[in-house]
Amino acid sequence: MATAPALDPAASPSRQWLPRHVLITPSALGWDHGRAIAERVSRLGVDIVELPSDRVKLDLSDDPKRQYAQAKATLAVVVAPPSKRKLQPIAPSADWRVDLAEGCPAHCAYCYLAGSLKGPPITRVYANLPEILDEMPRHLGQGTITSRSATRAHEGTTYEASCYTDPLALEHLTGSLSALVEYFGGWEADAQLRFTSKFSAVDPLLRVAHNGRTRMRVSLNPKPYARFEGGTSPVAQRVAAMRRMAEAGYLVGLTIAPIIAAPGWEAAYAGLIDDVARALDGLAPDLTVELITHRFTEGSKAVLDSWYPGSALDMGPDGRAQKRTKFGSIKHVYDRDTMRALRGFFEREIARKLPFARILYWT
Ligand code: SF4
Repeated sequence: MATAPALDPAASPSRQWLPRHVLITPSALGWDHGRAIAERVSRLGVDIVELPSDRVKLDLSDDPKRQYAQAKATLAVVVAPPSKRKLQPIAPSADWRVDLAEGCPAHCAYCYLAGSLKGPPITRVYANLPEILDEMPRHLGQGTITSRSATRAHEGTTYEASCYTDPLALEHLTGSLSALVEYFGGWEADAQLRFTSKFSAVDPLLRVAHNGRTRMRVSLNPKPYARFEGGTSPVAQRVAAMRRMAEAGYLVGLTIAPIIAAPGWEAAYAGLIDDVARALDGLAPDLTVELITHRFTEGSKAVLDSWYPGSALDMGPDGRAQKRTKFGSIKHVYDRDTMRALRGFFEREIARKLPFARILYWT
């Protein structure tokens, strides 16, 4: 067995999120999993408020900054309605999107949830896990994304669990991700679970019988960009967590996202890829890479500007081009020259430093 390289001291386990307010609906209390979440949370010393109805209502300040802080400090345990349990295709990552929760406790200056979730950013976790799991089998073999791809069909029907949340950020509070990994581990089918995370607390997952049917990707940006990723685990810890997952037999991957073409980006990303190569030294695992450049819509920019006024993240018009989304709205992406320079750089660096890695897509 390969010897693990000496890890950065910053790679020791990071502090985990503790919500200041936890609300639970009457319907969520009707589920074993909902009650188990309530027990976990109260063991951590947080009081739980039992709501009188299934409507999640917070007494929020009128000040947008305080409103944001209050909502981000709140966890609501709710039941996912049928509309949220209905699996949707999720290009280019996977055939289907499966949601265990909605919202995330971190504070990333570019968070893509700003454009997709409406209202105050409360994190909602779902109590009706059995109903969520019930949706999986009927979608087996029905995929339109990876299943129809000549290069990815061998992954089987793929299910992505990190579209509307970061499931690892909440795992110590819910146990939902371990349950999902275990479900796929025990499911004798040509199916694969995928999730990506900017957190590092993988300990609970290391004990799960995953049977090699889950791919964990770490979502990374170089250390100099840490100021854009408030509340997440340090990059060195995420990379160390990926190594531990690979050693535990999980399929692993990198989601380099969002790629930010700030001054000095070449040196910053070259350093990041060096760090990953060093962390995986002697292992050469089944490693995929997803490359996602920074983009935003007018709507998400307005939300992010209100959440993070004065952020150093550049969302100005220079070096940008416009692209129409499939829903008809405009998104701002890097212009052609910047995209070409970024793409060429990543393809070269990854081929050179991580020759065993497979790039799944560039966007
Ligand atoms: Fe958003 Fe992901 Fe950052 Fe959470 S970790 S705030 S989901 S970008």
